[in-house]
Amino acid sequence: TDQAKSRLYVKETQCPYCSVQCKMSVEELAAPVAGQKVAEYTVQGVPNKASQGRLCVKGMNAHQQVFSSERLMYPLIRRQGELEPCSWDEAMQTIADRLQQLQTTYGSDTVGVYGGGSLTNETAYLLGKFTRVALGSKYIDYNGRFCMSAAASAGSKVFGMDRGLTFPLSDIPKAACIILAGTNVAECQPTLLPYFNEAKENGTFIIVIDPRKTATAAIADLHLQVKPGKDALLADAMLKVIMDAGLADSSFVQKRTTGYEQLVQEMESLNLEQAAKACGVELDLIRQAAMAYGEAHTGMIMTARGVEQQTDGHMAVRHFLNMVLATGKIGRTGCGYGAITGQGNGQGGREHGQKADQLPGYRSIENEEDRAYIASVWGVDPTLLPGKGVSAYEMMERIYEQDIRALLVMGSNPIVSNPNVSLVEEGLRKLDFLVVADMFLSETARLADLVLPVTAYMENEGTLTNLEGRVLLREQGRSAPGETLDDWDILCRIAEKLGKGSLFQYAKAEDIFNELRIASRGGVADYYGITYERLRNEQGVYWPCPSLDEQGEGMLFHERFAHVDGKAMFTPGASQGWDDVSEAFPLILTNGRILAHYLTGVQTRRSPALAARELENFVELHPSTAARHRIRDGEWVEVQSAYGSFTVRSRIKASIREDTLFVPMHWGGIQNVNRATRPDLDPFCRMPGFKTAAVKIQPLRLV
Ligand code: SF4
Repeated sequence: TDQAKSRLYVKETQCPYCSVQCKMSVEELAAPVAGQKVAEYTVQGVPNKASQGRLCVKGMNAHQQVFSSERLMYPLIRRQGELEPCSWDEAMQTIADRLQQLQTTYGSDTVGVYGGGSLTNETAYLLGKFTRVALGSKYIDYNGRFCMSAAASAGSKVFGMDRGLTFPLSDIPKAACIILAGTNVAECQPTLLPYFNEAKENGTFIIVIDPRKTATAAIADLHLQVKPGKDALLADAMLKVIMDAGLADSSFVQKRTTGYEQLVQEMESLNLEQAAKACGVELDLIRQAAMAYGEAHTGMIMTARGVEQQTDGHMAVRHFLNMVLATGKIGRTGCGYGAITGQGNGQGGREHGQKADQLPGYRSIENEEDRAYIASVWGVDPTLLPGKGVSAYEMMERIYEQDIRALLVMGSNPIVSNPNVSLVEEGLRKLDFLVVADMFLSETARLADLVLPVTAYMENEGTLTNLEGRVLLREQGRSAPGETLDDWDILCRIAEKLGKGSLFQYAKAEDIFNELRIASRGGVADYYGITYERLRNEQGVYWPCPSLDEQGEGMLFHERFAHVDGKAMFTPGASQGWDDVSEAFPLILTNGRILAHYLTGVQTRRSPALAARELENFVELHPSTAARHRIRDGEWVEVQSAYGSFTVRSRIKASIREDTLFVPMHWGGIQNVNRATRPDLDPFCRMPGFKTAAVKIQPLRLV
């Protein structure tokens, strides 16, 4: 009976998955079953300012991965080809010996570090410091390169700074028109959907731009089923309709922007009929969407990976931002732009120095003043700080070429998440020394020489910054099991072994946060006024927050943009997008998330409730495409590009374009969609073109 159950603990924590960072309580009960005590868990949403007590199916079942029997509980070392348990002492000594030996032979930059956008702010910050100070290497980047780099670089260029949303979530129901471009919030950030449903009840006109009729498109008033790779052109076509109709806000343009004349000139040469044809969208629908947004007194545009994970993703976002600026829909209630980040700390993970070109607080590693300031915070000589490294996929190329011979991976699974997997896998196998810190034996960890077991979200303390730019404190809910350690603690211990321990003296995560506050002071992402005490008392604080008596800003740019002159920049620049299908590879492969899973699935595939919802990968294709290729629903098919192939089951749906295949990104091995994605990079932000690969498809049948 319920009375016979005994409560072990109940703790408040935060979902480890997406960028909403929903708060929840997890209660563990010991229930008597057949004379034994069996653990039972009750999970409930806890109201906070972002999620308002809601949880999706991923959050409801996140505890299952914490208690999974597959958790790594002690370090593993490879001996005679097999991974075997070892002590932390041996693991740490091995790391120090191998790294020092390789650096003595090949130089400091022979060691690389690969981080993640789900790590806490404290770990992300420390990973950057560890790489530059303890290892003295320039090679650090992280999986967030594949998540936010296009939107982040576009925001910095146009506004002078980058923060996911320029408005608080609570403003969404106040917008008269909302454009959701390449974002499927219904599956990727489900607890955001009620904000849009409330908007609809208020009469908001919602436009969804997506090659698929997604669960998010189902709530739209207008769905533009764009051809993958044509988002920039579609944004331009909409903007031209707006300008031709005289709907530009000339007062806003004049007072608060620069560069409009050049944009006007560029738009003159755009042929709307040709643009609509190239985008695969009827011109009449483009006109309807443009007029709805242009005529609305308030409006928002939000983009996500559908627009951003392209080789012109940076330009595509800039073109949408041109529409925001031309209509003056930013800096006031019910208006703004939002990049809907994907990972749990997609925002904070990009602010504190995990990126190849960045120091904490969004400072530049190539700026002498920035280098001098951070060096003073770290207590090191600025001339000893390494320079700029390379982006995540380029690190894989350096590994393949054996410029990098040792790699530390923390909070990531690069062998599944990078494009062009065959090169990545071959490169990782060539490494002289691979160390992976993870909760599970991920696909990447299986190749490692050393695997280090880390604590789960309920077992460590730290801050995460959600998609709004709201910094949230996740408190420790239970003690670390087995011999697991916090990620930051592992970095400090390695630094100690490398003789740099005096620069890594922290007793708890809060000590690191207090150093981060100082490092970020005066930077774009200024956390100086945020403390753990404030985070506990105020349910989170927005950055920028430069002093203890300031509230932080939910709404950005109401008076000034972040460029020195206070103005935003129109940034024209034609982008025709991608169009590389051929007779040999006639279809366009795109990818994305589904409701039950997160990133490469290392955690969610180990949650029985989530795995049961989607046990294996699939390819979604249109009935006509299936008929043309004689493919039946549910049968095994091979999808092949010029880079490689993968094998999945077919799922026939009329909700996708006839020229497009969609495959989720959550599986490794032969089901990994990235076996066929291409490695071409956006020239501005080095984002790979995940969303567009030319492929062919065929059924796999015994003849
Ligand atoms: Fe909330 Fe996202 Fe977790 Fe779902 S996955 S519970 S929306 S944080």
